[in-house]
Amino acid sequence: MFTPNKTNVGTIYCVGRNYALHAKELNNPIPKEPVIFTKARSTLCPLSGEIELPQALGRCDHELEIVVRIGKDLYNGSEDEVLAAISHYGLGLDLTLRDKQSEFKDKKYPWDLAKSFVNACPVAPLIPFENGKDLKNIDFSMTVQKSPRQQGNTADMLFDIVSLIQFISARIPLMAGDLIMTGTPEGVGPLNDGDQLSFTMDSHHVAQVSISRP
Ligand code: ZN
Repeated sequence: MFTPNKTNVGTIYCVGRNYALHAKELNNPIPKEPVIFTKARSTLCPLSGEIELPQALGRCDHELEIVVRIGKDLYNGSEDEVLAAISHYGLGLDLTLRDKQSEFKDKKYPWDLAKSFVNACPVAPLIPFENGKDLKNIDFSMTVQKSPRQQGNTADMLFDIVSLIQFISARIPLMAGDLIMTGTPEGVGPLNDGDQLSFTMDSHHVAQVSISRP
């Protein structure tokens, strides 16, 4: 297991619109190449216990995603080099201030302030990646108050995990410790004070979280 925290991770890269049904639910076009942005690593927190979110900034949506950890530096990596560079994987939330993001999109401004804020990046302890594990068939889900809210399988990605890392590493040198959040399936929605979230990956219970928006 690897437990990410603010001091042991590098850059957090995120992928937008990587599942067709999610692009559609936000009325976004299906991208022809991966949409990449980042989150500040100071926003990382454990995906466990109580997560306190800012109240004053409007709607805050959950985006449930598979997170991959890069274990060695990688620039312009081949498929084999990418596979050798992946050290761990697991679950995380790319929390998003949706009202703010819409406002920034309308103005054609960058989205940073909608994606980086206190506790914007809860990540569970990551499990070691062993070559042979099929990255194109990871099942994951989240319930809110015990009702299904988001359910995904990496088979439905527009750009699979290895292609995403190849794409990024051909443009930006990746470093050991970087995390990649690989995009959210459909079902994103707002988080409210008192919400009880439960997470599974490949049928294993991963985490239990309660949301506080005081
Ligand atoms: Zn996302």
